[in-house]
Amino acid sequence: MRTPFIEFLREHSRFVILSHVDPDGDAIGSALGLAWILRDAGKSAQVLLPGGTPELYAFLTGADDIGAVAADANLTDAAVIAVDATSPSRLGELASLLERGRPVANVDHHGDNARFGDVDLVDSSACATALILWEVAGDAGFRVSKAAAENLYAGVLTDTGRFSYTNTDQRTLQAAAELAGAGAEPFTIANAVYGTRTIASVRLLGRALETLDLREGGTVASIHVTQAMLRETGATQEDAEGFSSWPRSLAGVKVGIFLRETEDGMIKISFRSSEGVQIDGVAGRFGGGGHPSASGARISGSIEEAKQAVLQAVSEHLRSTV
Ligand code: 5GP
Ligand code: MN
Repeated sequence: MRTPFIEFLREHSRFVILSHVDPDGDAIGSALGLAWILRDAGKSAQVLLPGGTPELYAFLTGADDIGAVAADANLTDAAVIAVDATSPSRLGELASLLERGRPVANVDHHGDNARFGDVDLVDSSACATALILWEVAGDAGFRVSKAAAENLYAGVLTDTGRFSYTNTDQRTLQAAAELAGAGAEPFTIANAVYGTRTIASVRLLGRALETLDLREGGTVASIHVTQAMLRETGATQEDAEGFSSWPRSLAGVKVGIFLRETEDGMIKISFRSSEGVQIDGVAGRFGGGGHPSASGARISGSIEEAKQAVLQAVSEHLRSTV
């Protein structure tokens, strides 16, 4: 399964690596980890992320070199690799880089991946795209430096919710151990991601938790954050990182929902479900997608309208599956 992608990496010498909007730890860690592996193999690799790098991940080695728009791409002889992106639309403005007749590879762990590459490596049994890339490096005999290992470890750590989601398995923990052996420092990375909250973020979390709304006999929980709440607490969008896990963390909750009003007036929805409930289909009804137990979508309208529509869809889904 991994051979065509390994051949793609061997065949080309210059790469532009892309990932998805609202880049998370797996998007950034996969893109940077792969870039370091390719550079260590004597190739050139440039990373572009729509909107640039969130401050939370600026500590990752190589993050300071990430470009943000298609115009930043040095495309001379470059092959394009998309990582952790379900479809071209998830690449935002960077999707335009797929339309120029360049060779495209697509590496992802989302089951609903649109297979938009000339070479597609999609493995939905992998906890993270970073895990796939680690295994690719092993198969291909590429060196994995400390910088590469740190980035891939960050991808695995964050996409498994610190090794706690249902996607965490022996393969995950084995790769994590091997990445630590290759130089990734578990405490340093975990502390940079989870141990550096701002006071504004904690105040915002307090306000968000006050919006807690329980439905369906306590099996569905939602919280939300508005632009006004950001202003009142002095928080930024990024300060809401990780809030999506709170509603699902209540005892008895099968589906947790986090709604966030974005700067451009859209509503970003995060769905999290407990074992036995697959929520990606509901995200799909709103034009989004993701994994069975963690998925998302972006819709227009007010936070109240979005919340009512989403709660209704989740209730229908739960009733149709019991
Ligand atoms: P989050 O809620 O943390 O943003 O995302 C959870 C999962 O759902 C991630 O795997 C992410 O890639 C996916 N996801 C989030 N938002 C969207 C979206 O708007 N469209 C699609 N297709 N997937 C999304
Ligand atoms: Mn991922």
